[in-house]
Amino acid sequence: MAIRIGIFGYGNLGKGTECAVRQNPDLELAAIFTRRDPASISPMTEGVPVVAASEVADWAGKIDVMILCGGSATDLPVQTPELARWFNLVDSFDTHAKIPEHFAAVDAAASAAGTTALISGGWDPGLFSLNRVYAEAILPQGGTYTFWGKGVSQGHSDAIRRIEGVADARQYTVPVPEALERVRAGQRPTLTTRQKHTRECYVAAKPGADLARIEQEIKTMPNYFADYDTTVTFVSLEQLHAEHSGLPHGGSVLRSGLTGWNEEHTATVEYSLKLDSNPEFTASVLAACARAVSRMHAAGQTGCKTILDVPPALLSPLSGEELRRQLL
Ligand code: NDP
Repeated sequence: MAIRIGIFGYGNLGKGTECAVRQNPDLELAAIFTRRDPASISPMTEGVPVVAASEVADWAGKIDVMILCGGSATDLPVQTPELARWFNLVDSFDTHAKIPEHFAAVDAAASAAGTTALISGGWDPGLFSLNRVYAEAILPQGGTYTFWGKGVSQGHSDAIRRIEGVADARQYTVPVPEALERVRAGQRPTLTTRQKHTRECYVAAKPGADLARIEQEIKTMPNYFADYDTTVTFVSLEQLHAEHSGLPHGGSVLRSGLTGWNEEHTATVEYSLKLDSNPEFTASVLAACARAVSRMHAAGQTGCKTILDVPPALLSPLSGEELRRQLL
């Protein structure tokens, strides 16, 4: 029987999740939930119910795993612990500094309810986290580096959009090329946050908004922009939509470490992603995580989890025997 998936929140990630569910025959879309008027939402999947978020509790028992597609800045800290009372779930919470706090809140709710809730799925946090852990376990003497972009960070764009007076915004994360080259060359440099990336923001303000205040709020926003060299460029809404409408992204996790009796050799591990669509790829990771959550729940593993707690085989639709024959 297919795993019944609910999509909670129908923005970029919600639409990407709809595409990902369609690509996985063992998953089926049961319903889409939104805080907006359900009649204003037109899903791609024929016949799928669109339900008001306020009625979500009525769907307990009809959804095997809820995939939460709200924003990390203000949606998920509220929605994930709330929904863990009724559903197994997956979210893509990506405010790294607040993951321990989010984990504690979700764990309390999921443990009390006996549900299984995987937080911070996606690619970073998510697949990149997994690769950092593998590389550090394998090469204990060395340095780990993560570079993002150039690409649009949805989390950062979302955070700017929530500032008063902002109509829409796109934020590009850009790696500093010299820093990336030095790491790939095995030099293991010490790099500050500021030396690794710059952040470019394109912002369309609402008529009459105070541009200086918006720029100041962006540049000083903790966790998102305060530690980076950030540029803010104000553009019209038309220009923003014409020139910055795509959501490409990507990046690399690198570890450069030492091997040999006298640590005379260097090994460099690089895992990289090149994504035409960040939300569609992120959603593809969440779909695989939903499969794992369904299996972990069936095995009695409840409470909050991250992708680090998931045995790789549980992410795959293949059986253990198929995996050993085809992918080991
Ligand atoms: P969106 O802004 O497109 O959607 C967020 C929510 O906004 C939706 O769930 C939707 O909820 C609501 N919304 C309100 N009005 C609208 C509207 N007019 N159109 C669309 N949605 C609307 O954000 P994204 O989907 O791009 O990203 C969601 C989060 O995903 C990001 O905040 C980021 O934290 C996370 N992410 C994580 C990654 C990772 O690797 N871990 C990678 C990429 C993203 P409702 O339907 O209830 O109104």
